[in-house]
Amino acid sequence: MTGFAKGVLILRTSTVTDQFRTDLERELGDGVVSHEPERLDAFVADTYWIALHAQAEGEPLGRPELVARPSTEAGVAAAVRIASEHGVPVVPWGGGSGTQGGSVPIRGGLVIDLTGLDRIVEIDERSFTVTCEAGVNGNRLERELNARGLMLPHYPASSEWATVGGYVAARGSGVLSTRYGKIEDLLLSLRVVLASGELIETVPVPRHAVGPELTQLFVGSEGTLGVITQVTLQIVPLPSVRRFATVRFPSIAVGVDAIRRSLAVGVRPSVIRMYDDEATRLALSPVVGEELDGVCTVLCFEGEPGTAEAEETATLALAHDAGATKLDSALAETWWNRRYDFYVPPHQPVLPSIWGTIDVVATYSRIEHVYDALRAAVKEPFSDVDLQLRMHFSHWYPWGTMIYARFVVPDGGGGPEAVELHDRIWADGLEAAFSAGGVMNDHHGVGLKLAPYMERQHGASLDAIRKIKQALDPDGILNPGKLGL
Ligand SMILES: Cc1cc2nc3c(=O)[nH]c(=O)nc-3n(C[C@H](O)[C@H](O)[C@H](O)COP(=O)(O)OP(=O)(O)OC[C@H]3O[C@@H](n4cnc5c(N)ncnc54)[C@H](O)[C@@H]3O)c2cc1C
Repeated sequence: MTGFAKGVLILRTSTVTDQFRTDLERELGDGVVSHEPERLDAFVADTYWIALHAQAEGEPLGRPELVARPSTEAGVAAAVRIASEHGVPVVPWGGGSGTQGGSVPIRGGLVIDLTGLDRIVEIDERSFTVTCEAGVNGNRLERELNARGLMLPHYPASSEWATVGGYVAARGSGVLSTRYGKIEDLLLSLRVVLASGELIETVPVPRHAVGPELTQLFVGSEGTLGVITQVTLQIVPLPSVRRFATVRFPSIAVGVDAIRRSLAVGVRPSVIRMYDDEATRLALSPVVGEELDGVCTVLCFEGEPGTAEAEETATLALAHDAGATKLDSALAETWWNRRYDFYVPPHQPVLPSIWGTIDVVATYSRIEHVYDALRAAVKEPFSDVDLQLRMHFSHWYPWGTMIYARFVVPDGGGGPEAVELHDRIWADGLEAAFSAGGVMNDHHGVGLKLAPYMERQHGASLDAIRKIKQALDPDGILNPGKLGL
């Protein structure tokens, strides 16, 4: 049986034979491979709206035929090698918190549940690095590091569910990224199982001149080029202080310009979250418990007391010169303490609502055009379905920033019309962003959701990425149908 989800081929023809299952069970040992329906049902949807909707309608986008949960790297390598010999699709599954459908097994086959690889291998306090297996849970790692006065400065809002392998595979970003960088900036090296089952390890440091940077090839590859089994990441001491400030800018344009100037002189706030008026009213206000409006901006500065204070003073001076009003700093501190509340009910919508985050990044020269274009394409045209659009800017770079455009249709109605409406909002929003010079994603990845737009995004370069995929995975067994490859 075949089908299509937004231009992606869904194949429901089984490739799993009795011989494959026997070989896998023999190699991996007792209790590692499951085929019980309840176990398979746990791997039909990540948090992609279409996958959740399909699951709720009783027709999941995909379902594995077998799930293996090896507890060693050798087990992962054996599983991939045997799948390769039998031509069975392999889908790596970390925490299943992805928003793009990346881990949904749309062609059946074998899901490798990586949470069995859960060892923290080494915390090197001298080099400020941690080496851990790919299935280590984000929050667990954080607790272990915090107990030693250290942290992985990543902090995605999904750390309760996500794994470190998923952080890297989906090229994610955490709340402190403006100061410490995205996951690719925190990654030193990794170990990865290739489609053949061969295990490779990249060079131990990310800055070198021994040829191309192989480590980075696997960042954002979403399981299509290999299965990451181990990562070494940069960690930092816990900051001695974290200072908070809240300001209201007269407009998005003024606010973005003030922050741009502050970053250009080397100031690195750990958090800059600038909400537009609708996001201030509909997203920020309910979470911090105050009725706010306008372009409210939450700022955090951290590190040693003197440095953090100096960075705060410099940023607030630039904001003041730009016409910003200072608000109660306690608002930003409340925001920090409740920062994950945005992503759970009642603040996070549930079915039958339709929701999605059009996450776009662009240079400062283009970002305002992208903001205006997105608003024009997604807000008014969908007013008949009461669409709310809450946009904030949350990850900042010396050259530009990203827009987190969260849309919510309070009552999606269900059925195929809901899917059609969801896809239309995405198509119109993305086309507007592309036309204004935006790049379609900063940190959520591609998966199934954005696969149909990869050609629009990359143009002829997509062919080069496809050739890399072809070379590393000639039979196309690794996470087929994802990334538009
Ligand atoms: C409430 C919520 C908040 C979120 N907030 C953030 C945020 O602040 N920042 C952010 O970046 N993201 C965020 N996300 C998205 C998501 O949590 C991240 O992308 C996360 O990094 C995914 O990790 P995971 O272990 O759950 O991966 P999964 O969802 O299991 O997998 C994601 C993709 O990576 C592949 N994969 C997973 N593990 C491996 C591996 N070991 N080797 C090879 N491929 C692998 C999968 O096949 C899939 O394609 C959020 C999601 C939710 C639901």
